[in-house]
Amino acid sequence: MSIGTLYIVATPIGNLEDMTLRAVRVLREVDLIAAEDTRHSRKLLTHFGISKPLTSYFDHNKNIKGARILAKLQDGLSVALISDAGTPCISDPGYQLVRDAVASGIRVVPVPGACASTAALSASGLPTDTFLFEGFLPSKAGKRRERLAALKGEPRLLVFHEAPTRVAAALADILEILGDREMVLARELTKVYEEFLRGRVSEVLRTVEELGVKGEIVLLIAPSPEERASNQDLVPELLSRYLDGEGMFVKDAVKRVTQETGEARSRVYREALKLRK
Ligand code: SAM
Repeated sequence: MSIGTLYIVATPIGNLEDMTLRAVRVLREVDLIAAEDTRHSRKLLTHFGISKPLTSYFDHNKNIKGARILAKLQDGLSVALISDAGTPCISDPGYQLVRDAVASGIRVVPVPGACASTAALSASGLPTDTFLFEGFLPSKAGKRRERLAALKGEPRLLVFHEAPTRVAAALADILEILGDREMVLARELTKVYEEFLRGRVSEVLRTVEELGVKGEIVLLIAPSPEERASNQDLVPELLSRYLDGEGMFVKDAVKRVTQETGEARSRVYREALKLRK
């Protein structure tokens, strides 16, 4: 008997029209759907006329449920993993199941779709050539401030998920620790009250304090101009060190400099070609 396939299926983050045709087909075809919250997902599935056996898979039952799902996959059943909204494994449960499936030789197939962070990035107007997804900041002030302090020299745009109850405190810490950078607060994406607050951290914080903010939120914090500039200046120097000094291939040098500086690969590649001429 052949083993089954594990599908990682994205679902809408608000607007049901963002459900992809492929997601609907795959969810109709699999033998079992593993969902973070079965009651929540049942409504989505009913909307799309999908009636399949559902099982729960969430943070607190992931070990025991993961083993059962793997056993079903090994028995030849196909399984789709969905989360409450958006792409599973992105600030949502799933990666251990994927890791264990891969280790067991099970085929894992992504069915891409909505994702709050990429939706926010795409309409932000901030430089998105490179970014660092940080997920949720710690909820306790001390730990949050520690995390932000560790990100101070980070040259990439920062992406955070944040709860409306904590967003003012988080922005106040960002202002104090990272400085008054350009930012975008993207809220209720794809929903009726979708909104983008753009400006400096101090401006967005003022709006949040004065008017309050509700709903689901993604924060995008642009790098400080100094971090970006100082990092960009390093590219030719590092390339020359790896290409001329260490005799690396262009491909490997570009990969290393891209990783070390957080610069866009396309830009590093262009610089490498200039040096090679
Ligand atoms: N896996 C999801 C994804 O792909 O977008 C993210 C799940 S994470 C547990 C939930 C967080 O994502 C929310 O607290 C919020 O920060 C962000 N989020 C989810 N839906 C959103 C929306 N419609 N608008 C803005 N942010 C959203």
